[in-house]
Amino acid sequence: MISQKIEGNLKKSSWIRAMFEEGEKLRKKYGSKNVFDFSIGNPEIEPPRAVLDKIIEAASDKANGKHRYMSNAGYDYTREKLAGYINSTKGSNLTKSHVVMTCGAAGGLNAILKTILNPGDEVIVFSPYFVEYLFYIDNHGGNPVILPADTSTFQPEPDIVKNYINKKTKAVIINNPNNPTGVIYSEETMQKLAKVLEIKEKEYGNTIFVLSDEPYDRIIYDGAFVPSVFNIFKNSMIVNSFSKSLALPGERIGYVAVNDKIDNSQLLLNGLVFCNRTLGFVNAPAFMQRIVADTLHEAVDIESYREKRNILYNHLVGLGFDCIKPKGAFYLFPKTPMEDDILFCKRAQEYNLLLVPGKGFGCPGHVRLAYCISMETIKNSLPAFEKLAKALR
Ligand code: PLP
Repeated sequence: MISQKIEGNLKKSSWIRAMFEEGEKLRKKYGSKNVFDFSIGNPEIEPPRAVLDKIIEAASDKANGKHRYMSNAGYDYTREKLAGYINSTKGSNLTKSHVVMTCGAAGGLNAILKTILNPGDEVIVFSPYFVEYLFYIDNHGGNPVILPADTSTFQPEPDIVKNYINKKTKAVIINNPNNPTGVIYSEETMQKLAKVLEIKEKEYGNTIFVLSDEPYDRIIYDGAFVPSVFNIFKNSMIVNSFSKSLALPGERIGYVAVNDKIDNSQLLLNGLVFCNRTLGFVNAPAFMQRIVADTLHEAVDIESYREKRNILYNHLVGLGFDCIKPKGAFYLFPKTPMEDDILFCKRAQEYNLLLVPGKGFGCPGHVRLAYCISMETIKNSLPAFEKLAKALR
């Protein structure tokens, strides 16, 4: 009944969904208080008060014309404010013409890939990755080329990247901070990667775009910072959203910012705006464009995420788990104490712990915990981890 490709994709993308369904069963059986669901990156935290107030104010605005179509790139006012914000945080020189408002980061990535890919073009993705990348690339006729992880650091390895680039390479996706590891790619790594890409662009006479997916860039800890791709890669675009920084994932609001140093960036921007429209998004939600324009400096309570990270990380490491302490996002990605991460997740379920196997992110032998859940659930889950660790000893 449905396309064979989509039927195949449904099977491939089933990990998080499977965990969710497993969770539903466990919740029915044991009650939701006794199930510790670390499977989904759907923040339980509420948006900042200032954002909620702005929503009330905007909803009460009775002026005409607030709910119409606008330029497919978004409201000038919002794009101008965003360009200023990006310039102040990323050291760039954008104008509103370099910013396209999108339906979340997901909508932004799809608009970009639709704009730049010819059939069979390749897009480099670093493992472990946000699994949707593979489907987005496929949506637009491209082929993902997956690079293995250096599991000791989870940093990309520029020396290895060069072996994967050929004349069909059109883009590299980086995700900073990373889902699922929480690692931030360092400036040094990115500078090395830029050199590799520059050499390869000259060798093949092609542009290789760096697509920097940054929905977690405000969720960072311990004085860490996300290096600005605009100062490192000439042919770069930033994809971002307010799904995590303002806890608004259901509102579908994000943007693409195009480096002003890209040659003929206007053609690229025209393509992006056209694809935003013709993919059926038409434009980003008008209402949310008005909200975020005036709350760009707001963020959710990062301190509460830091506290959750610390409690969970310290507990797991204390139990003997091998885990990199993440500097950003709201995920932990420890090694599984047994080789088979799927089996490990099944064993964890015996203690009502819902975790996602690393295999689902292209990195078996690990497991992802999303700690964007309540502190109460995290604290209540600690004895379950203890029992699990003991049972596996
Ligand atoms: N990129 C990464 C790495 C993500 O983790 C997510 C959502 O979880 C997205 C993109 C999609 O974000 P949005 O809700 O803004 O479309």
